[in-house]
Amino acid sequence: MPEPALTVDELLALDRRHVWHPYGPMPGRQDPLVVESASGVRLRPADGSPELVDGMSSWWSAIHGYNHPVLNEAARDQLERMSHVMFGGITHEPAVRLSKLLVDMSPEGLEHVFLADSGSVSVEVAVKMCLQYWRSLGRPGKRRLLTWRGGYHGDTWQPMSVCDPEGGMHELWSGVLPRQLFADAPPAEYEETYADHLRSLVERHAEELAAVIVEPVVQGAGGMRFHSPAYLRVLREACDEHGVLLVFDEIATGFGRTGALFAADHAAVTPDVMCVGKALTGGYLTMAATLCTPRVADGISRGEVPVLAHGPTFMGSPLAAAVACASIGLLLCQDWLAEVKRIEAGLRDGLAPAAGLPGVRDVRVLGAIGVVQLDHAVDMRAATAAAVREGVWLRPFRDLIYTMPPYVTGDADVARIARAVCAAAGEG
Ligand SMILES: *Cc1c(COP(=O)(O)O)cnc(C)c1O
Repeated sequence: MPEPALTVDELLALDRRHVWHPYGPMPGRQDPLVVESASGVRLRPADGSPELVDGMSSWWSAIHGYNHPVLNEAARDQLERMSHVMFGGITHEPAVRLSKLLVDMSPEGLEHVFLADSGSVSVEVAVKMCLQYWRSLGRPGKRRLLTWRGGYHGDTWQPMSVCDPEGGMHELWSGVLPRQLFADAPPAEYEETYADHLRSLVERHAEELAAVIVEPVVQGAGGMRFHSPAYLRVLREACDEHGVLLVFDEIATGFGRTGALFAADHAAVTPDVMCVGKALTGGYLTMAATLCTPRVADGISRGEVPVLAHGPTFMGSPLAAAVACASIGLLLCQDWLAEVKRIEAGLRDGLAPAAGLPGVRDVRVLGAIGVVQLDHAVDMRAATAAAVREGVWLRPFRDLIYTMPPYVTGDADVARIARAVCAAAGEG
């Protein structure tokens, strides 16, 4: 006999007692939304209240929406072959096909793929690759990282050390986190003085720097800021000139979100190492990847310890890799750029009224990303409730109410999301 289903109240009571949620205390202070199922761009609440259009793509990941027949089919098909097998000493078609797809679609020159099980782990691997590269070349002193303020790279220790020092709780962890170098946050427009600031930091610290690591074009969870792609070329040139590796964290920006397949493409720059995640499996399963150039791989593999000592238990998960292949296939077989541009235009129109609201500092849109920044911290409860009244799911943070809808969101739903962002900004 299956156990009887729990009521919504029972679920919430057990959740409060036992379940830790992201960035929250235990027990949580606000009841989460209990979602029973999801389909297309809509989440279905378990309490029978109206469906909500998902303005968040489950944190950048569900680019094709939920319960997609093609992704379901890929998962089912793989499930019946094998959902998982160890990757040590074994390989399989989903992982091989996925790696080839990633190499073919990513910036020219990235040839090798390490499949990781989450974005943060892919950043750990990227950092390990860079530090080990220099160690292998007899330069162990090159072990620090340079980034710019306002970034976000994940919640494990190396990624935390390059998150924005204020938003990333560096105070709490001073003395525990490795001390990295921080440039000022990049301005939206190109400024020669800022480019010089970057160049001079790379030059002055080249002896101790293993790599520069940044989110290209869009800084996500560190503050939802956009910057000129020209800074990526500045970093590429400075890194080449002074012997420093360049890492792009495309975990949020990858797979078309900013209006280029990868944000690096806006600047036609190839990093030495690149991380992808989030939308990699279309939001179905957890998987990320770290790509690198032959130079990095050769450096490591000719070193004194000629292996990359990293191997998550669920590395290369066949189930996740099969869905990732299907998700990339879905993306590339459509005019994804037209969809992203369509959403961009809808968000521009729909968010324009927010600029006139009291308490709004800035409204910005790039690709399928829309941001309203307030001049005060968001009242989460009020802002979330205002969005839900408009029939939309949003998850504001700090002073930001933002959206990155699934690419399949229709025009009427994009307009609805924009109305909800405005409503949340008005009440949050
Ligand atoms: C989400 C994110 C990460 C961390 O990925 P997880 O899968 O949450 O570990 C790292 N970098 C960027 C830019 C991200 O947006």
